Amino acid sequence: MLKAINPATGKQIKEIEEVQLSQAGELYQKAEQAQKLWNAKPVKERLEYFKALRLLMASKLESLTTILHADTGKPKPEALATDIVPVLDFIQHLEKTAESALSKQNKPTTMMFWGKKSYIEYMARGTILIISPWNYPLQLAMVPVLSALAGGNAAVLKPSEVTPLTGKLIELLFKEAGFPPHLVQVAQGGKELGEALVKEKPDYIFFTGSVKTGKVIQEQAAKDLIPTTLELGGKDPLIVFEDANLDRAAKAAVWGSFTNSGQVCMSTERVYVQRSVYPSFVRKVQELTVSLKQGSSLNDDIGTMTDPRQIQTVREHVADALNNGAKLMAGNLPEEMEEDSMYIRPILLIDVKQDMKIMQEETFGPVMPIMPFDTEEEAVELANGTIYGLNASVWSSDLERAERVVSRIVTGNASVNDVMLTVMNPNLPFGGVKQSGIGSYHGENGIRIFCHEKSVMTDPGKKGTEIQWFPYRGKYKPFKALFQTVYGTEKNWKQAAQAFRTIMKHSK
Ligand code: NAD
Repeated sequence: MLKAINPATGKQIKEIEEVQLSQAGELYQKAEQAQKLWNAKPVKERLEYFKALRLLMASKLESLTTILHADTGKPKPEALATDIVPVLDFIQHLEKTAESALSKQNKPTTMMFWGKKSYIEYMARGTILIISPWNYPLQLAMVPVLSALAGGNAAVLKPSEVTPLTGKLIELLFKEAGFPPHLVQVAQGGKELGEALVKEKPDYIFFTGSVKTGKVIQEQAAKDLIPTTLELGGKDPLIVFEDANLDRAAKAAVWGSFTNSGQVCMSTERVYVQRSVYPSFVRKVQELTVSLKQGSSLNDDIGTMTDPRQIQTVREHVADALNNGAKLMAGNLPEEMEEDSMYIRPILLIDVKQDMKIMQEETFGPVMPIMPFDTEEEAVELANGTIYGLNASVWSSDLERAERVVSRIVTGNASVNDVMLTVMNPNLPFGGVKQSGIGSYHGENGIRIFCHEKSVMTDPGKKGTEIQWFPYRGKYKPFKALFQTVYGTEKNWKQAAQAFRTIMKHSK
């Protein structure tokens, strides 16, 4: 049994039955049958189920928010706006775009193959294993599941064992919305169940979680040549130039660092500020940080941490920074943090250095370290100076400069004069580079990754042969003459036409 614990109260809410490791294979057998029937339905018909799910969720906003709040400790407004609404938005996006994304895509045919038709079609892969984390337990599970279903697949979802109530909720939502049995199977359990499900050879693995786990999964998947998408961690920089709207930038940095208690893959984890405005920016950010309200009422800004293990990482990174010369401007010293509390007051650090853990490793907690820089070149170098590349944010009133800097940051996502933004627009692909992941989803690609991409060329079938087929006798010289004109600089179309006739004669 998995214990669902409310992080705000420490009380157990429910016990939820785990799937036995020995049952992993059975899930895929059941999924296979369901997938065949589902895949036979036209996309339009699949989308009717999606609409039913959207309407069902929209009618249950209060109960969904209450469950997410209890399962994660995030404030209710945050649960609603940043975990539930993105799912509704994504369903609507699929309703609008899935048919066109999955339809045959006609492509031009090169001159060499004149007379033939070329297109791409998308074929479901089969059963997709989706393994999800605890920080946005609804959207990071449901968005890939729905994208996989849109493409005609079945899904086995292994949600995080840290937030099993949300896993249960997802199972009930699909059931209540009327989806066919076994099309979406929610397999509750821990890391061992995740391992067992990977070993049972799904047709595709979509993983969201830490770099460490991503590497373990990729290694196993490679042994069976199972394709994967890996959505992993980040250490996102926020760069403020001296001509930026400082008030807006300071507010954004505070939200970007502390929303969901910093437990966001796209959290602002490093802030770089141009030296001339550094003191005033620090002052603004400090004022805003100390004014944040922490608790679990509807008017509180900062909730609890969700996974107690994460608190240890936060303490360790902050202690390392302070021991190496950083200064605490807001929040508690590690030794002042209450031992058994899941609340961490937002922490502001200055005098940090680029090689500290707090600037290099993913903290995944409510900590904002700020550091000054002098030149644009230096800002780019600092931003690129970690193993991660998930997201970045650049602030300047000179949009040309901001976009120039964005172009030089090695990252999968970026925003100008805004923060943590692109993931909210389902029309844009979302994914990390460097150690932040492999592949992307959302956008058109978000459905297509769950499909085999099949290239097809069709010939009317009336000609007796093709010029490139056997026999080759007598074709080499006229081939050269033809291709020199087609691809070279010297165009002798008369000679090319003659060459073509000769090739045709030899092709009979
Ligand atoms: P995690 O890697 O510990 O666990 C993620 C999931 O993997 C869980 O369901 C867990 O049970 C499962 N798992 C763990 N070990 C496994 C194994 N060996 N085989 C199969 N499954 C296994 O991550 P977490 O602590 O749940 O989540 C936090 C991490 O997720 C952070 O690093 C964060 O940056 C990352 N994240 C990334 C994104 C993104 O979109 N890039 C989004 C959210 C979170």
